[in-house]
Amino acid sequence: SSSAVPAVRTAGITKRFGAFTALSEVDLDLAPGEVHGLIGSNGAGKSTLIKVLCGAITPDEGTLTVAGDPVSFTLPAQAERAGITVIHQETQLFPDLSVADNVVVSRPNLRGPAGLGLRDRRADRAEAARLLESLGLTIDPGRLAGTLDLAEKKLLQVARALRSKPRLLILDEPTAALEARQARRITTLIRGLAADGLAILFVSHNLDEVLESCDRITALRDGRTVARLAGDQATPHLLAELVAGQQLANA
Ligand code: ADP
Ligand code: MG
Repeated sequence: SSSAVPAVRTAGITKRFGAFTALSEVDLDLAPGEVHGLIGSNGAGKSTLIKVLCGAITPDEGTLTVAGDPVSFTLPAQAERAGITVIHQETQLFPDLSVADNVVVSRPNLRGPAGLGLRDRRADRAEAARLLESLGLTIDPGRLAGTLDLAEKKLLQVARALRSKPRLLILDEPTAALEARQARRITTLIRGLAADGLAILFVSHNLDEVLESCDRITALRDGRTVARLAGDQATPHLLAELVAGQQLANA
C-alpha cells in the first residue's frame, strides 16, 4: 500500500550531460507490491532514470533511498547488492548455453560465462528448474537459449534477474517487438511478481498495456515529471496526451 515504506524512492534527481539537462528534479516512489509504469516519448529521460536507479550513472543532484535508507551508487554491482536489478531492453543471454546455465551464470560480461566450468551442472539444472517452475514457466532447462522465442528469452531474463532476490525489478521495454499474446505472458508474470511483494518499474510504449498492468503511472517529458497517476485514474486518451506533450485542461 502507499503508506508502506517505499522499496525505492528518488527525490529531486537531476542529471545533466554537459549543458543539456536530461533529468530535472524527478521524484519517484516505488512501493513493494506495485507495478509502476514509466512512460514518455523518445528522449524523455526514461533510460537515464533507469541508469541512475541501477547505478550505471551518478546523478548531479537528488537522493535515492532503498527501504528508507539513503544510498549512493557508483557501480551497478552496488545497486544490485542493494536489491535493484534491471532487465535491459537488449536481450543479454548466451545463445549457445542451456536455459539452466543462463539462469545460474553471472551476467554476461566481456569475459564470457566465467566460472561455469567449476559448477555442479546437475545442481544448477535442478535450481534452474525449480526457479522456472516457481514462476509458472514451462521452459525446458536443457534447451539452448538461442532456440527460445522472443517472449521465452525475456522470461528467462526475468528468471535470471530473480536469482539476486531483488526488491525492485526494472524492466526497460520488455514487451517491445512481441505480439499481444506473447506480451501478455510478460505482463502476467510481472503482475505475479508484484503480488509476491516485489516493486516493479515497467517501461513500455504500449499505453494499453501500461493501463492494464500498472497500479501507478509516471509520465516524463523533457526530463520532467508531467504526471503521476493511479492506473485506475488513467485513460488511453490521457496517457497518449501526456506522451505527446499536449496541454491538458485537467491534468
Ligand atoms: P528515453 O529513454 O526516454 O528515450 P533517454 O534517457 O535515453 O530517453 O535520453 C534522454 C535525453 O538525454 C535524450 O535527449 C538523450 O539524447 C540524452 N542523453 C542520454 N544519455 C546521454 C549521454 N550519455 N550523453 C549525452 N546525452 C545523453
Ligand atoms: Mg530509452
